Amino acid sequence: MEMVGNREFSDYRDLSDDECHALIKSAKASLGDDLVILGHHYQRADVYQHADLKGDSLKLSRLASQADSEHIIFCGVHFMAEVADIMSKSSQKALLPDLAAGCSMADMANLSKVSRAWNELKSVLGSEMSVTPITYINSAADLKAFCGEHGGIVCTSSNASQIVSWGLTQQDKILFFPDQHLGRWSGHQLGLMNDSDMKVWDPDLWMGGLSEEEIKSAKILLWKGHCSVHQMFQPSHIARFRDQHPDGYVISHPECRFEVCDQSDFVGSTEYIVETIAAAQPNTHWLVGTELNLVNRIAEEFRPQGKLVEFMSPLVCMCSTMNRIDPQHLAWQLDNLLEGTVVNQICVPDSEKDMARLSLERMLSIS
Ligand code: SF4
Repeated sequence: MEMVGNREFSDYRDLSDDECHALIKSAKASLGDDLVILGHHYQRADVYQHADLKGDSLKLSRLASQADSEHIIFCGVHFMAEVADIMSKSSQKALLPDLAAGCSMADMANLSKVSRAWNELKSVLGSEMSVTPITYINSAADLKAFCGEHGGIVCTSSNASQIVSWGLTQQDKILFFPDQHLGRWSGHQLGLMNDSDMKVWDPDLWMGGLSEEEIKSAKILLWKGHCSVHQMFQPSHIARFRDQHPDGYVISHPECRFEVCDQSDFVGSTEYIVETIAAAQPNTHWLVGTELNLVNRIAEEFRPQGKLVEFMSPLVCMCSTMNRIDPQHLAWQLDNLLEGTVVNQICVPDSEKDMARLSLERMLSIS
C-alpha cells in the first residue's frame, strides 16, 4: 500500500489522465519555486511533459546539485532520487512519485556481494591490492559510498570511458559494477582488446568463477549484471535494418551487448543519442537501440525534418519500472505537498551520504 499522506493514493488511482494533468499544472503553479521536477529521458510522455528539467543521469545529477527548490521530485527510478538526495542541500527533500520504481540492473549488485568480492580479490591480490572500484550510477547509495571509501568513483553512460581511464591511472585494475556491458564497451574504447584484459566476475560463484591467474592478469573485472531492456537488442536486428536501408544509421546505448555496440555506427548515452540525431542531415533513417519511450519521443520530434527513427527490437521493451511513474502518482504527490505533507521522500542514511557524495563529486570533477 502507498504511504498515506493527507490524501490517499486510492483516491487518485482511477482519475483520468486529463484530470491528473489539470491537478499537476495547478499544483505546480501554486508551489512555484518551492518545487522542481526532474524528468529522465526514459519517462513516459504523459509524465515527461511536466518535467521542468530533462536529461540523462549525468545531466540530472548535475542539475540536482544545482537546484535551489525545497522539493525535488524525481520522475525516474529510485537510485536517481537517491542521487538527488545525496547531491542536494540538507534543507531540500528528494521525492519519488512511486517507491516501486526501481531498476532491475541496480538490484543485480548489493553491498554484501560487492564486499564479498572485494575480500575475495584481497585474498588473491594481497592486502595492498591495487583495485579501483567503479560503480555505474545505476546502483544503490551504499555502493556509491563503498566506492567513495575505497578510492573509487561513480560513472554514467556519458562518461564511462573517461572514468575507466581515470581508474586505471589510480590503480592497476578496476572492479566495475553492476553493468558488464557498459564496462566492456568502455574498456574496448580504451584499447583493451585481449581476452585476458577483461573478465566477467560472477558474484554467485567463489572468486567470481575465475582462476587466480585470470584475476591477476585482468585489467577490468566486469560484474555479471545487465539491463533487461537493452539486453533485448540483437545483432540480427541491425542486419535486417542494414539489408532494408543500406544508407541508414544505427545508434545504440552502451548498455547494449558488445556485438550490438560493435555493429552500430554510433554508441552513446541517451543525451548523445538525442544530440546526434538532432544534428543529422534531414531525410536520414535511424535505427535506435535504447528504451522505447525515448525512441518514440525522438521519432515524433524529428519527423518534420524528414528523419525516420525506428526502434531496434521488433518486441516492445520499455523500462517497466520507470513506467510506474504515472500522472496519477505525480498528481497525488503534488496535492499532498500543497497540503504540507511530504510523501515518498527518499532519504539516504547520513552514514552513507558523505562517502557517496565523494564518489559522485570525483566523477563530476573529471567529466
Ligand atoms: S532501462 Fe534498464 S538500466 Fe535503465 S532504469 Fe530501466 S532497468 Fe534500469
